[in-house]
Amino acid sequence: MQQSLIIIKPSGVERGLIGKIIDRFQQKGLIIAGLKMMRLDEGLLREHYAHLVDKPFFPSLLRSMMASPVIVMCLKGKDAIAVIRGMVGATNSRNAAPGTIRGDYGMSSQENIIHASDSEENGIIETNRFFRPEEIFDYIPGNIGYIYSPDERD
Ligand code: UDP
Ligand code: MG
Repeated sequence: MQQSLIIIKPSGVERGLIGKIIDRFQQKGLIIAGLKMMRLDEGLLREHYAHLVDKPFFPSLLRSMMASPVIVMCLKGKDAIAVIRGMVGATNSRNAAPGTIRGDYGMSSQENIIHASDSEENGIIETNRFFRPEEIFDYIPGNIGYIYSPDERD
């Protein structure tokens, strides 16, 4: 199984969408391996958004991500990276398809509700960046046999 680091950004927290977003992932059959609320600081965000630090919008993105506490989650599932990115939708919420989280709840590129890891490697790196090892729980939900066939559970 793959793992993905999810952040419900201040735009999702402040707009009261925490429950709706978690519900979507649970209904899909993704496994919640870790979940907590935290405040992000500039050092962590400079690491997490290292590919964007030179962009003109970076100072605004920093302020936006520190505007309130966020929810961070580690979700696990088969092909979880692609499945979750599909559920999240395009970066600019105005271009995100209806039915996706950004497409249903957002109107902005910056204030786009949620982050999700973009590769299997980043799913691991980002989970380790936001969670201590003891905050990630390796368990098999009791309903797993109704979510996957036996040969899909690797
Ligand atoms: N972002 C922005 N303006 C842009 C592009 C990105 O404010 O023109 C913000 C937006 O919040 C986005 C984040 O920077 O989610 C990270 O950008 P990335 O290209 O990694 O998009 P994502 O992977 O979140 O879809
Ligand atoms: Mg990204």
